[in-house]
Amino acid sequence: MRIILQFPEGLKAKAMGEMAKLEAQGHEVFIAAAPCYGACDLCLDEARNVKAEKIIHFGHAEFMKVKADIEIEYRPYFSEIDWKVGKKVLDKAAKLLHEIDAKRVSLVFPVQHLENSKRVKAELEKTGFQVKFGMGGAHVRHAGQVLGCDSDAAVNAGKVDAVLYFGGGKFHPTGLPSTKPVLCADPHLGDSYWITDEIRRVERKRQGSILAATEAKSFGILVSTKCGQINMAGARMAKKLLEKKGRKAALLVANELSPVSLANFMSFDAYINTACPRINDDTDNYGKPVVNVADLKRLLELMCIP
Ligand code: SF4
Repeated sequence: MRIILQFPEGLKAKAMGEMAKLEAQGHEVFIAAAPCYGACDLCLDEARNVKAEKIIHFGHAEFMKVKADIEIEYRPYFSEIDWKVGKKVLDKAAKLLHEIDAKRVSLVFPVQHLENSKRVKAELEKTGFQVKFGMGGAHVRHAGQVLGCDSDAAVNAGKVDAVLYFGGGKFHPTGLPSTKPVLCADPHLGDSYWITDEIRRVERKRQGSILAATEAKSFGILVSTKCGQINMAGARMAKKLLEKKGRKAALLVANELSPVSLANFMSFDAYINTACPRINDDTDNYGKPVVNVADLKRLLELMCIP
């Protein structure tokens, strides 16, 4: 069988080993080389172009049902941690939660920590916390799991006093809402720390982009062709509504949208983003306000009637 393997950036080092195993079974193997940030970004075009019969996508759970002529297998990668460090991190997390008198906690994690989350829950319950898992939106598969674009699990856990994110880095936790205090327990860093103020800064920046975009006369509407990001209906609607407000708008389509690919479109004053909502984390590098389509209603309300 001809198989194409796809890895997120952090797992690309495993590509040769996985290729060797499959080649030993008699398969022909291609490795998708383009950057991959999520299961929203299956390498369907590459697979079709090399006539692969199957995609094996590593490191993420299924994002959405994909109607494709190609078999798709998802192989999540579960992070193994040093539990001596894990315990130290959870002890500090418990101390910080006690300091704000939190008793009920919504526990969230990226899919790599799905297996570890069971032990995290048990450890916290031993120290007297009530730990709940909420279910995320349409693109997540496990209770408590969050994506950069889907933090519903944090708010769907019922009544809680705080949210505890167990995992590495700040990409996922800065996508969580700040309606409850958010604590990061990072077993890779070996530390626990509050991140609520940083989330509020991100939220304020987002509001700032919306306000700045009210002055724009001309909008580029960003449409990604990635299978889990394409939003033609949202893009067309944005164009129509902006034109109704007297603004110029153009639909800009690309697989990968970046400040570099857009740099020479000098005529736009702002962008409406219908693709990955975390594109606007990078708003400073675009040099113009980037507003997610989810915030379009708010933007239109704030715009003066021409
Ligand atoms: S945050 Fe962006 S890259 Fe990650 S899964 Fe969501 S749409 Fe894809």
